[in-house]
Amino acid sequence: SAAALTEAPADPQKGSLRILQLYPREMNIYGDYGNVLVLRQRLAWRGYGAEILEHDAGDTFPDDVDIIVGGGGQDSGQEVIQEDLQSIAPRLRALAEDGTPMLLICGLYQLFGNTFRTYEGTVIPGIGVLDLETRGGSERLIGNVVATSEEFGEIHGYENHSGQTFLGGGLRPLATVVKGAGNNAEEKHEGARYRNIVASYLHGSLLPKNPAIADFLLRTAAERKFGAFDDGSVDDSLAELARQHAGARPR
Ligand code: GLN
Repeated sequence: SAAALTEAPADPQKGSLRILQLYPREMNIYGDYGNVLVLRQRLAWRGYGAEILEHDAGDTFPDDVDIIVGGGGQDSGQEVIQEDLQSIAPRLRALAEDGTPMLLICGLYQLFGNTFRTYEGTVIPGIGVLDLETRGGSERLIGNVVATSEEFGEIHGYENHSGQTFLGGGLRPLATVVKGAGNNAEEKHEGARYRNIVASYLHGSLLPKNPAIADFLLRTAAERKFGAFDDGSVDDSLAELARQHAGARPR
Protein backbone atom coordinates (compact mmCIF):
# COMPACT_ATOMS: atom_id res chain seq x y z
CA SER A 1 0.00 0.00 0.00
CA ALA A 2 1.04 3.53 -0.74
CA ALA A 3 1.85 6.14 1.90
CA ALA A 4 -0.53 8.91 0.89
CA LEU A 5 0.59 11.46 3.40
CA THR A 6 3.08 11.68 6.24
CA GLU A 7 3.15 14.36 8.88
CA ALA A 8 5.96 14.32 11.44
CA PRO A 9 5.04 14.90 15.11
CA ALA A 10 5.20 18.62 16.00
CA ASP A 11 6.32 17.60 19.49
CA PRO A 12 9.58 15.62 19.20
CA GLN A 13 8.67 13.69 22.39
CA LYS A 14 5.63 12.22 20.68
CA GLY A 15 5.26 9.54 18.06
CA SER A 16 3.12 8.98 14.98
CA LEU A 17 0.13 6.76 14.38
CA ARG A 18 -0.26 4.80 11.15
CA ILE A 19 -3.78 5.13 9.78
CA LEU A 20 -4.88 2.85 6.95
CA GLN A 21 -7.75 3.89 4.68
CA LEU A 22 -9.35 0.85 2.97
CA TYR A 23 -10.25 1.17 -0.73
CA PRO A 24 -10.34 4.99 -1.04
CA ARG A 25 -11.14 4.59 -4.78
CA GLU A 26 -14.36 2.60 -4.49
CA MET A 27 -15.32 3.00 -0.85
CA ASN A 28 -15.33 6.71 -0.16
CA ILE A 29 -18.64 8.49 -0.67
CA TYR A 30 -20.49 11.36 1.03
CA GLY A 31 -17.22 12.76 2.35
CA ASP A 32 -16.02 9.65 4.17
CA TYR A 33 -12.36 10.56 3.55
CA GLY A 34 -12.97 13.43 5.98
CA ASN A 35 -12.78 10.87 8.79
CA VAL A 36 -9.09 10.32 8.05
CA LEU A 37 -8.47 14.07 7.90
CA VAL A 38 -10.09 14.51 11.32
CA LEU A 39 -7.89 11.81 12.87
CA ARG A 40 -4.79 13.42 11.38
CA GLN A 41 -5.79 16.91 12.54
CA ARG A 42 -6.69 15.86 16.09
CA LEU A 43 -3.28 14.15 16.32
CA ALA A 44 -1.53 17.30 15.04
CA TRP A 45 -3.33 19.53 17.57
CA ARG A 46 -1.82 17.34 20.31
CA GLY A 47 1.68 17.24 18.88
CA TYR A 48 1.48 13.72 17.42
CA GLY A 49 2.30 12.80 13.85
CA ALA A 50 0.32 10.72 11.38
CA GLU A 51 1.17 8.44 8.54
CA ILE A 52 -1.80 7.89 6.23
CA LEU A 53 -1.69 4.72 4.15
CA GLU A 54 -4.14 3.66 1.47
CA HIS A 55 -5.05 0.11 0.53
CA ASP A 56 -6.64 -0.38 -2.89
CA ALA A 57 -7.38 -3.67 -4.66
CA GLY A 58 -4.11 -5.39 -5.58
CA ASP A 59 -1.97 -3.55 -3.01
CA THR A 60 0.13 -5.39 -0.43
CA PHE A 61 -1.37 -5.07 3.03
CA PRO A 62 1.02 -3.17 5.34
CA ASP A 63 2.88 -4.91 8.16
CA ASP A 64 1.84 -2.68 10.96
CA VAL A 65 -1.10 -0.34 11.29
CA ASP A 66 -2.60 1.41 14.30
CA ILE A 67 -6.05 2.46 13.05
CA ILE A 68 -8.13 1.18 10.12
CA VAL A 69 -10.77 3.34 8.45
CA GLY A 70 -13.24 2.19 5.80
CA GLY A 71 -15.93 4.16 4.02
CA GLY A 72 -19.11 3.63 2.09
CA GLY A 73 -19.64 2.77 -1.55
CA GLN A 74 -22.21 1.84 -4.12
CA ASP A 75 -23.26 -1.81 -4.39
CA SER A 76 -21.23 -1.91 -7.66
CA GLY A 77 -18.10 -0.66 -5.85
CA GLN A 78 -18.58 -3.33 -3.21
CA GLU A 79 -18.63 -5.96 -5.97
CA VAL A 80 -15.36 -4.58 -7.38
CA ILE A 81 -13.45 -4.83 -4.10
CA GLN A 82 -14.96 -8.08 -2.76
CA GLU A 83 -12.22 -10.39 -4.04
CA ASP A 84 -9.38 -8.28 -2.67
CA LEU A 85 -11.23 -7.88 0.61
CA GLN A 86 -11.46 -11.68 0.95
CA SER A 87 -7.72 -11.92 0.28
CA ILE A 88 -6.87 -9.58 3.17
CA ALA A 89 -9.64 -10.89 5.44
CA PRO A 90 -7.33 -13.07 7.59
CA ARG A 91 -5.21 -10.00 8.42
CA LEU A 92 -8.26 -7.86 9.14
CA ARG A 93 -9.77 -10.57 11.34
CA ALA A 94 -6.55 -10.97 13.33
CA LEU A 95 -6.19 -7.20 13.79
CA ALA A 96 -9.82 -6.86 14.86
CA GLU A 97 -9.55 -9.68 17.42
CA ASP A 98 -6.28 -8.21 18.70
CA GLY A 99 -8.04 -4.92 19.46
CA THR A 100 -6.92 -2.64 16.64
CA PRO A 101 -9.31 0.34 16.55
CA MET A 102 -11.36 0.51 13.37
CA LEU A 103 -14.01 2.82 11.98
CA LEU A 104 -16.23 1.17 9.36
CA ILE A 105 -18.86 3.20 7.54
CA CYS A 106 -21.84 1.95 5.54
CA GLY A 107 -20.54 -0.13 2.59
CA LEU A 108 -17.54 -1.51 4.48
CA TYR A 109 -19.62 -1.90 7.65
CA GLN A 110 -21.87 -4.20 5.56
CA LEU A 111 -18.91 -6.17 4.16
CA PHE A 112 -17.31 -6.74 7.60
CA GLY A 113 -20.49 -8.72 8.32
CA ASN A 114 -21.43 -12.21 7.11
CA THR A 115 -23.24 -11.49 3.83
CA PHE A 116 -24.81 -8.67 1.86
CA ARG A 117 -27.65 -9.60 -0.48
CA THR A 118 -28.22 -6.59 -2.74
CA TYR A 119 -31.67 -5.51 -3.91
CA GLU A 120 -30.77 -6.96 -7.35
CA GLY A 121 -30.20 -10.33 -5.66
CA THR A 122 -26.39 -10.44 -5.90
CA VAL A 123 -24.86 -12.03 -2.84
CA ILE A 124 -21.60 -10.39 -1.78
CA PRO A 125 -19.89 -12.45 0.91
CA GLY A 126 -18.59 -10.48 3.87
CA ILE A 127 -15.53 -11.27 5.97
CA GLY A 128 -17.44 -12.24 9.11
CA VAL A 129 -15.62 -9.98 11.55
CA LEU A 130 -19.01 -8.68 12.69
CA ASP A 131 -21.90 -11.09 13.23
CA LEU A 132 -24.51 -9.38 11.06
CA GLU A 133 -26.43 -9.76 7.80
CA THR A 134 -27.49 -7.12 5.30
CA ARG A 135 -30.35 -7.29 2.80
CA GLY A 136 -31.01 -4.71 0.10
CA GLY A 137 -34.50 -3.24 0.18
CA SER A 138 -36.59 -1.36 -2.37
CA GLU A 139 -36.65 1.70 -0.12
CA ARG A 140 -33.60 3.91 0.40
CA LEU A 141 -33.08 5.19 3.91
CA ILE A 142 -31.91 8.77 3.47
CA GLY A 143 -31.52 11.75 5.78
CA ASN A 144 -30.01 13.17 8.93
CA VAL A 145 -29.76 10.82 11.90
CA VAL A 146 -29.56 11.49 15.62
CA ALA A 147 -28.83 8.51 17.87
CA THR A 148 -27.97 8.16 21.54
CA SER A 149 -25.26 6.01 23.07
CA GLU A 150 -23.91 5.57 26.57
CA GLU A 151 -20.34 5.44 25.35
CA PHE A 152 -20.23 8.46 23.02
CA GLY A 153 -23.29 10.50 23.96
CA GLU A 154 -25.48 11.76 21.14
CA ILE A 155 -24.22 10.74 17.68
CA HIS A 156 -25.02 12.84 14.58
CA GLY A 157 -24.68 11.93 10.93
CA TYR A 158 -26.28 11.42 7.54
CA GLU A 159 -27.48 8.09 6.11
CA ASN A 160 -28.12 7.00 2.52
CA HIS A 161 -28.42 3.25 1.97
CA SER A 162 -30.71 0.56 0.61
CA GLY A 163 -29.05 -2.26 2.56
CA GLN A 164 -30.77 -3.05 5.85
CA THR A 165 -28.56 -4.59 8.50
CA PHE A 166 -29.57 -6.99 11.27
CA LEU A 167 -27.16 -7.78 14.10
CA GLY A 168 -26.59 -11.30 15.41
CA GLY A 169 -27.38 -12.07 19.04
CA GLY A 170 -23.93 -11.32 20.43
CA LEU A 171 -23.38 -7.98 18.74
CA ARG A 172 -24.31 -4.67 20.40
CA PRO A 173 -25.62 -1.73 18.39
CA LEU A 174 -23.53 1.43 18.54
CA ALA A 175 -26.52 3.59 19.41
CA THR A 176 -30.30 3.90 19.58
CA VAL A 177 -31.92 6.01 16.88
CA VAL A 178 -34.05 8.97 17.91
CA LYS A 179 -34.30 10.47 14.41
CA GLY A 180 -33.82 8.65 11.09
CA ALA A 181 -33.56 4.89 10.49
CA GLY A 182 -30.04 3.57 11.20
CA ASN A 183 -29.37 -0.15 10.61
CA ASN A 184 -32.84 -0.92 9.28
CA ALA A 185 -36.35 0.48 9.06
CA GLU A 186 -37.64 -1.49 12.08
CA GLU A 187 -35.35 -1.70 15.08
CA LYS A 188 -34.12 1.82 15.87
CA HIS A 189 -30.56 0.49 16.11
CA GLU A 190 -27.66 2.38 14.60
CA GLY A 191 -24.32 0.76 13.85
CA ALA A 192 -22.45 -1.88 15.80
CA ARG A 193 -19.79 -1.96 18.52
CA TYR A 194 -17.35 -4.90 18.80
CA ARG A 195 -13.92 -4.98 20.49
CA ASN A 196 -12.37 -1.66 19.36
CA ILE A 197 -14.48 -1.44 16.21
CA VAL A 198 -17.01 1.31 15.69
CA ALA A 199 -19.27 0.51 12.72
CA SER A 200 -21.95 2.89 11.51
CA TYR A 201 -24.18 3.87 8.61
CA LEU A 202 -23.43 7.53 9.18
CA HIS A 203 -21.60 9.70 6.70
CA GLY A 204 -21.27 13.40 6.86
CA SER A 205 -18.38 12.60 7.37
CA LEU A 206 -18.99 11.12 10.81
CA LEU A 207 -15.95 12.21 12.83
CA PRO A 208 -16.09 16.02 12.34
CA LYS A 209 -19.45 16.07 14.14
CA ASN A 210 -18.58 13.34 16.64
CA PRO A 211 -15.21 14.11 18.25
CA ALA A 212 -15.89 11.62 21.06
CA ILE A 213 -15.68 8.78 18.53
CA ALA A 214 -12.53 10.24 16.94
CA ASP A 215 -10.86 10.46 20.34
CA PHE A 216 -11.89 6.91 21.26
CA LEU A 217 -10.04 5.64 18.15
CA LEU A 218 -7.00 7.84 18.82
CA ARG A 219 -6.79 7.10 22.55
CA THR A 220 -7.12 3.36 21.99
CA ALA A 221 -4.44 3.37 19.28
CA ALA A 222 -2.04 5.61 21.25
CA GLU A 223 -2.40 3.60 24.46
CA ARG A 224 -1.71 0.39 22.55
CA LYS A 225 1.34 1.86 20.83
CA PHE A 226 2.84 4.30 23.37
CA GLY A 227 1.22 3.17 26.63
CA ALA A 228 -0.52 6.56 27.05
CA PHE A 229 -2.39 9.27 25.17
CA ASP A 230 -1.83 12.95 25.89
CA ASP A 231 -5.24 14.27 24.88
CA GLY A 232 -4.44 17.94 25.63
CA SER A 233 -7.35 20.23 25.04
CA VAL A 234 -9.06 20.63 21.72
CA ASP A 235 -11.63 23.32 20.95
CA ASP A 236 -14.72 21.45 19.74
CA SER A 237 -17.09 24.41 19.54
CA LEU A 238 -17.38 24.12 15.73
CA ALA A 239 -18.27 20.43 16.03
CA GLU A 240 -20.91 21.36 18.61
CA LEU A 241 -22.37 23.99 16.27
CA ALA A 242 -22.53 21.47 13.42
CA ARG A 243 -24.29 18.97 15.68
CA GLN A 244 -26.93 21.48 16.72
CA HIS A 245 -27.44 22.58 13.13
CA ALA A 246 -27.80 19.02 11.79
CA GLY A 247 -29.99 17.89 14.68
CA ALA A 248 -32.42 20.74 14.16
CA ARG A 249 -33.04 20.04 10.47
CA PRO A 250 -36.21 18.25 9.48
CA ARG A 251 -35.59 14.83 7.94
N1 GLN B 1 -24.41 0.19 -1.36
C1 GLN B 1 -24.81 0.16 0.00
C2 GLN B 1 -26.29 0.42 0.21
O1 GLN B 1 -26.89 1.22 -0.51
C3 GLN B 1 -23.98 1.14 0.78
C4 GLN B 1 -24.28 2.57 0.48
C5 GLN B 1 -23.40 3.51 1.22
O2 GLN B 1 -22.25 3.19 1.51
N2 GLN B 1 -23.91 4.71 1.50
O3 GLN B 1 -26.85 -0.18 1.10
